[in-house]
Amino acid sequence: MRYQASATRYAEMKYNRTGKSGLKLPAISLGLWHNFGGVNTHENGKAMLLRSFDLGITHFDLANNYGPPPGSAEEMFGQVLKQELAAHRDELIISTKAGYYMWEGPYGEWGSKKYLISSLDQSLKRMGLDYVDIFYSHRPDPNTPFEETMGALDQIVRQGKALYVGLSNYTAEQTEQAVKILKDLGTPLLIHQPKYSMLNRWIEEGLQGVLEEHGVGSIAFCPLAQGLLTNKYISGVPADSRAGGSSVFLNEKDITQETQNKIIKLNELAAGRGQSLAQMALAWVLRGERVTSALIGASRVSQIEENVAALKNLDFSNEELAQIEEILK
Ligand code: NDP
Repeated sequence: MRYQASATRYAEMKYNRTGKSGLKLPAISLGLWHNFGGVNTHENGKAMLLRSFDLGITHFDLANNYGPPPGSAEEMFGQVLKQELAAHRDELIISTKAGYYMWEGPYGEWGSKKYLISSLDQSLKRMGLDYVDIFYSHRPDPNTPFEETMGALDQIVRQGKALYVGLSNYTAEQTEQAVKILKDLGTPLLIHQPKYSMLNRWIEEGLQGVLEEHGVGSIAFCPLAQGLLTNKYISGVPADSRAGGSSVFLNEKDITQETQNKIIKLNELAAGRGQSLAQMALAWVLRGERVTSALIGASRVSQIEENVAALKNLDFSNEELAQIEEILK
């Protein structure tokens, strides 16, 4: 049956302004890093994308290398876009990135103009798009002058291949430098995409201050610490989980006793708020409105439904925040 978007898709989602830009992003966005590759079931990926859109998730985050195999998540997304979501292109914010290894030889990774521009051209072909909404430098390149990397981002916007630009995995100092270069070029930095969750708080040390000072938004990746901040690993490692599967990014040894003890206590605290741990972890990332969007992953539709329902309770009492600090310390 042909997909018909839900008429109530904008009823529940919250949209936050991205820094001082004109662009709003959903408080929860969906990333296609895992579970949307050529090795995964197309129907499941499609169901997750369409359910997300029906829940008001307007932002989908990709990268050249998402799969496996690399590039296949963009192809998969392109198919769903063409077959189901084509009529809604102007309701979508689609991002992609280049920075990590993508092809052989000296031009297939890092931050040269040669790599960034050719990689985006490949991404646009795979997704069947004329432009992406946000294009990211996926990681800083210590061997390419920032002027060149930022110059490539500026050129991409001027060519109409991206509307906005972002940086991911840049430190506070690197971001400060890049912001200045981009500002001088006339293409302001829209957004930074850092790793951020209850279990990884590095951005609080300086990056958040830099972003606020310059009016740059932020979208937190791995807000559930790849699933650790849910109730799924409380009593072992399920076979159908990321840590129990073939992902090289999370495995059993990451689930230490110390982490598990924290998860158990956080889970109890969440229950007291009438939330699941996943919901509380997302609400916590969004607390104080310092983060524009929490960028989740999912392996099934029910997780997306549960995670979006986090928006029903985003408030924390000072006591709850203090209890969380105590558990995390
Ligand atoms: P999360 O921390 O949200 O982890 C998502 C995983 O947790 C899911 O795949 C699922 O794993 C599990 N999960 C999600 N919701 C629930 C739930 N309610 N109950 C139980 N388990 C749940 O994010 P990801 O690590 O997937 O990263 C999200 C996105 O961030 C990526 O898709 C990508 O777009 C971006 N990213 C960017 C990076 C960068 O360098 N810029 C690096 C990494 C990610 P399962 O069911 O399989 O166990």
